[in-house]
Amino acid sequence: MKEILLCKYGEIVLKGLNKSHFENIMLKEIRRRVEKCGGGKVSHAQSTVYVDPADETDVDQLCAELQKVFGIASICRAAVVEKDMDKILAAVKEYIPEKLAGYRSFRADAKRADKRFPLKSPEIAAMVGGAVLSVMPSIKVALDNPEIGVTVEIREEHAFIHAGSMKGADGMPVGSAGRALLLLSGGIDSPVAGYMMAKRGARVEAIHFESFPYTSEAAREKVLELARLISDYCGPIKVHVVSVTEIQERLRDTVDEEYFTLLLRRSMMRLAARVAQKRECHALITGESLGQVASQTMLAMSVTDPAAGMLIFRPCIGMDKEEIISISRRINTFETSILPYEDCCTVFTPKHPKTRPELPKVIAQEEKAMLTELEATALLGLTTYYIG
Ligand code: ATP
Ligand code: MG
Repeated sequence: MKEILLCKYGEIVLKGLNKSHFENIMLKEIRRRVEKCGGGKVSHAQSTVYVDPADETDVDQLCAELQKVFGIASICRAAVVEKDMDKILAAVKEYIPEKLAGYRSFRADAKRADKRFPLKSPEIAAMVGGAVLSVMPSIKVALDNPEIGVTVEIREEHAFIHAGSMKGADGMPVGSAGRALLLLSGGIDSPVAGYMMAKRGARVEAIHFESFPYTSEAAREKVLELARLISDYCGPIKVHVVSVTEIQERLRDTVDEEYFTLLLRRSMMRLAARVAQKRECHALITGESLGQVASQTMLAMSVTDPAAGMLIFRPCIGMDKEEIISISRRINTFETSILPYEDCCTVFTPKHPKTRPELPKVIAQEEKAMLTELEATALLGLTTYYIG
């Protein structure tokens, strides 16, 4: 039976005059994914996007793709039927039992957008309910609190029949909130942070710092794989890779050991901010979580922030590690994140890092390292990968 997908809007519904701006960004992303799965027609009306897949499109794969589009709250698979009551009832008997398997109660509803259709909504609903019961005698009708709903929509050209829906990705369409630069490490938290900001509409670009030969080619591949995994949600991502080997060696050779990590993080923030400005990103994103490690205490973050001098989003800041892990499992980055490769932040780590640093002392240490030229050189060596 021919099927169509109905994608219901999430938070975009609440938008007023500029709703179409958000709608257009989401439609573009939906079209991109439909093309990826074999093509089809995409249209929209009344806070629903209709996707009519081409014959050769794999509808299961398309549903999985659309479930990763931010801005969609739910997706219904619906049978498309001619607007003739006998044909509708025959289709209900054929299409619905599989959808209701395992449910104990249902309720039938009808929506009649085409007011010329000869039967009224309550009559249609009663006939549809009867058709379901005729093929599934053990299921009960429950007008209040049914376990699942069966709906027939009488639209302009066709009738749609559907039962239940799949959860969408929610959030706001990627790109509707501007562009931000994610500091992407190979860990668990930063891919989750990127996903969370994309969910709020940020177009995510990434920067990764490596420290060859202290970090390996495999560590870089791991980060690119993480970017590929989050690009399932965020869309295509540019990943800028910058080497901080010389900066780290200079810090090792010149500053007091306890300041090493803080100063490296300030340097990373400065480099990221420079790339962000060039790439017209309006914010940085990190995976930091308050108190997780010495460099993520309130005082440590307040000495790294001024080095960036721009807006920094830390969507994981108030989350426990377990909460971050549960998101990383859901978005499929966890197994890759826990692969045991080294990160530049774990090279030359001090035994007793400063957890209560004071900015003037930090700056005095930083001056000893004279990083300006090294940072400029590091940026000249930037390599960009296009992922997704
Ligand atoms: P994650 O699991 O995200 O790696 P973490 O718990 O390992 O976080 P840190 O290593 O202290 O914590 O890093 C904190 C944040 O700094 C990361 O979430 C990430 O945004 C950024 N970061 C750390 N290392 C790098 C790196 N090599 N390249 C880019 N960003 C990094
Ligand atoms: Mg890390």
